[in-house]
Amino acid sequence: MPNLFSTVTSNPVAKAVGKQLGLPQPVTLRRGRDLPTGDVVLGTAPVGAAGGIVADALAALGVPAVEALRDDPAARTTDDEGRARPPAYEQRIGAVVVDATAATTIADLEAVRALLRPALKGMGTCGRVVLVGTAPELTDATESAATQQALEGIVRSVGKELRAGATANLVWTAPGSTGADLASTLSFLLEGRSAYVSGQPWRVGTAPEGAAVPADSPFDGRVVVVTGAARGIGADIARVFARDGAKVVVVDIPASGEALGKVANEIGGTALQLDITATGAGDRIADHVTHRYGPDARIHAIVHNAGITRDKLLVNTDEDRWGSVLDVNLAAQFRINEVLLDKGRAGGLAEDGRVVGVASTSGVAGNRGQSNYAASKAGVIGLVRALAPQVADRGITVNAVAPGFIETEMTGKIPLATREFARRFNSLQQGGKPVDVAETIAYLAAPTSGAVNGQVIRVCGQSQIGA
Ligand code: NAD
Repeated sequence: MPNLFSTVTSNPVAKAVGKQLGLPQPVTLRRGRDLPTGDVVLGTAPVGAAGGIVADALAALGVPAVEALRDDPAARTTDDEGRARPPAYEQRIGAVVVDATAATTIADLEAVRALLRPALKGMGTCGRVVLVGTAPELTDATESAATQQALEGIVRSVGKELRAGATANLVWTAPGSTGADLASTLSFLLEGRSAYVSGQPWRVGTAPEGAAVPADSPFDGRVVVVTGAARGIGADIARVFARDGAKVVVVDIPASGEALGKVANEIGGTALQLDITATGAGDRIADHVTHRYGPDARIHAIVHNAGITRDKLLVNTDEDRWGSVLDVNLAAQFRINEVLLDKGRAGGLAEDGRVVGVASTSGVAGNRGQSNYAASKAGVIGLVRALAPQVADRGITVNAVAPGFIETEMTGKIPLATREFARRFNSLQQGGKPVDVAETIAYLAAPTSGAVNGQVIRVCGQSQIGA
């Protein structure tokens, strides 16, 4: 549905007025599996470091990389007025990837600057800046840790400087990570699937048995369960998994049964009418899986998307408002996980399965009138971080996404002025789409993302209020 802001920014006259008023002009983001238009350029920091992992990952993905230009004094040219100019790309570039895994000294950061300066000038629409480092806590010297942490400051700032739908993110690897461990994450970051993810770091470790190159149909024949799938983000999560080959079980409350059935029919999945807070909800899900997909069927991924809001200032929040939100958004996830993670449970999670929780930027930054909701969503983050290491030796990963402002019925209920502010106040200057959240969840749930565990990825366009 058109909103005030998109009306203002798509009508030519209103657009001109909007420009005069200084309103941001959002671009249409590149979505889906397309790579950016233009070369992917690759550089290492420090200069001459024996790059390996990033080059290996790009090679595994079949993405050719061109050597990045550097803004070194010797490489500068002088213009007609005698001013020194950094080297410039002849054509627009699609992405700059910097392998800074070997950066251990503060002086090494200069190479990051030297690589980014020409690249930012030459970046095309919906371009990508990807820094790859080594997790600060896994380095063995104070200066190394400081240097690696400094990369976060760079991507968070560059993300705010970029325009035209471009994003900047940081991946911290572990000392034992390989190109195969990184490939799934790098392809997500370069492709349009990561359209609404910017300005943040996350960690890639090592996959239990080595990760493979992402396939076009990564969930072929695998069972994926999505809660709260009758509408909004959940319906799009179900669509994306079905697109990528999964047999999807869509779950929602009986009152949404009709809409749920439509989603199931549309994607060739099966519907389970279930209130996830009901006693025995986890068993109902597992029983549905064996009943519909056979006695040996296991769940590849469970996506805990169902959620509710009951907003009020804390001074006006009674135990019902508090309890219902905590129960749907957090306690139900916890209880269902306990059942599905039981090794002996027929229809439970497969040994290389995936658990993905849906948190919120409210759970990271808090929000006025949402102490119950923010508690539940921060709780999801805590749950994910605690559970991930407990199941890692089974090849299971547990991660979460934290959406910011996504255009759905839930955010459609926010009062107009607040809604326009929330929609715009991020580096991409627009609200995200449900598919942006869905693509990020599908990346985390991919069989090839086994090296990504215990992470929380915000899908918020680098919200300036959400984190
Ligand atoms: P929505 O209200 O449009 O859809 C939520 C779905 O969950 C509905 O179909 C609802 O019937 C279902 N549901 C609610 N309680 C349930 C229960 N007890 N059992 C089974 N199903 C239940 O919401 P949405 O905007 O699509 O949000 C989806 C998720 O994303 C939620 O967890 C929400 O908190 C989170 N989120 C949304 C945004 C946003 O901007 N829309 C931002 C951050 C986080």
